[in-house]
Formats: sequence, C-alpha cells, structure tokens
Amino acid sequence: MIDCHCHLADSRCFKDADRILSEGRAVGIRKWVLGGTDPVEWDRQAELAGRYPGQMFQNYGLHPWWVEKLSRPEIDSALAMLKSKLGSAQGLGETGLDFYEKRDPEKFDDQFYAFDAQVRLAVAREKPIVLHVVKAFDESLGVIKSHVWSGGGLQVPIMLHRYSGNEQQAKPWIEMGVMLSFTEAFIDPERGKKSRRTLLETPVEQILLETDGPDLPFTDLPRIYAEAAKVKGMELKAFQAQIVANIERFYRVDTRAKNG
Ligand SMILES: [Zn+2]
Repeated sequence: MIDCHCHLADSRCFKDADRILSEGRAVGIRKWVLGGTDPVEWDRQAELAGRYPGQMFQNYGLHPWWVEKLSRPEIDSALAMLKSKLGSAQGLGETGLDFYEKRDPEKFDDQFYAFDAQVRLAVAREKPIVLHVVKAFDESLGVIKSHVWSGGGLQVPIMLHRYSGNEQQAKPWIEMGVMLSFTEAFIDPERGKKSRRTLLETPVEQILLETDGPDLPFTDLPRIYAEAAKVKGMELKAFQAQIVANIERFYRVDTRAKNG
C-alpha cells in the first residue's frame, strides 16, 4: 500500500520516523507521499528520502497555513527558495486555498498570491501538483483552469488531497482528470455519507487514499483501503494495485520494477 498523503517530515513526527516506518511496513505500507509545507520541512523530506531510498515521494510547496504567517516579502523569498529547490522533489505541494472560518480573511489575498505563483511554477517545471483546498473550490478551480487546463487536458497531473467537498463540487475536478485523495471520513455511517457518495462517483482510476498522518495514525491506512474497496465493490488486492497504478500515473514513473 501507499499512503498517498502524509507528513512524516512534520516536526510532530519526524524524530519518530524510523519507528513509524517500521510499524507501517508491518501493516503493509511500502511507500509514502509527503506533503510539503515550508522550506525547513523540505530539508527533512530530503533527509528521509536519503535514508529510505525509493520509499518516499517528495513534494515541496508552501502550505496555505504557513503562507498565512508570512509578510509579502517573506512569501517572495520562500517562493524563490522553492524555485531553487524544486528540482530535487517529484512534485509541488501542498499548495492551495483554505478559506475555512478559522483562517484569517485578511490573508486570503496572500494565500491566493502564493498559490497562483506555485501553480505557474509547477507547470513551467512540469511537476505534478498536490492541492489543499478547503471552502475554496470555485476559487481554486479558477486558478487551475487558467494555468493548468489547456482545453484538452491538464498540463501536469493534479491531486486534491483530503477531499472535503460534496459530489457536485467534485464533478468539475473529476471531469478535468484530477485525482481525489480520501481519508477515513467516508467510513462513518452517518457523517461520512457525503464523502462516501463522492467516493462512489469518482472513477477508480482517479482515487487515492491517505492518512494525512500524523492527523490520523499512519496504521489506519489498511482500514481505509479495505473500506474504500468495499464502497467501490472491488476485491482488495485489485483495488490496492489500482491505487499504486494511480500514484505511478500521477508521478509518471513506473515503480513496478523496484516493487517486484
Ligand atoms: Zn497535508
């Protein structure tokens, strides 16, 4: 299995990464897609990738929550740093817009500024994009349509991580070929209805699964895979293979040779 979005390089769990990886391996997790947040965290990603060759997918980006804490000149210097370091990552992210009520509306312009710049950079450098979008689906869609959508398709692959909208909001993204990454929300019989309907509507070629760890325990991943396979009416092994194939398509790599 692959955890399609998690934060092993987050300061909350980086020092425990060896233990988390061995617990993960014990339950069948072979690869980890890291969600980037800030320049210091990218360096920790690089360290993990060096320690665990072939097991990490690195993504460097400026997370909207991190951007919110910066002044405009600080954002510009962080963007310059991203430009210089992006070559060593496989993808750009997480980037996006978060207009949740707890966020600071005074900073929405800055979020937008950093997001727009990162999306343009990803296209210029041909890097797939990991999106973080909360309560800003229309605004984010506008940015993607103007910079990544070419009319016939996406210029670089996109994943919407920890998808939190409903199935109507998912529609335009699915039609563009964006991959939706789900975490355990769909499992809850009552609160998970909206998420389960979206999972059901999403073509299996566009589904990814994640813990967003350490938000959720990394070892919850097998349960998320098993429950999602049930929702899709698929046999678990075939379903797992499909998610691996989806990540390979996202990063345009073939990892089968290494997997055996
Ligand atoms: Zn994340």
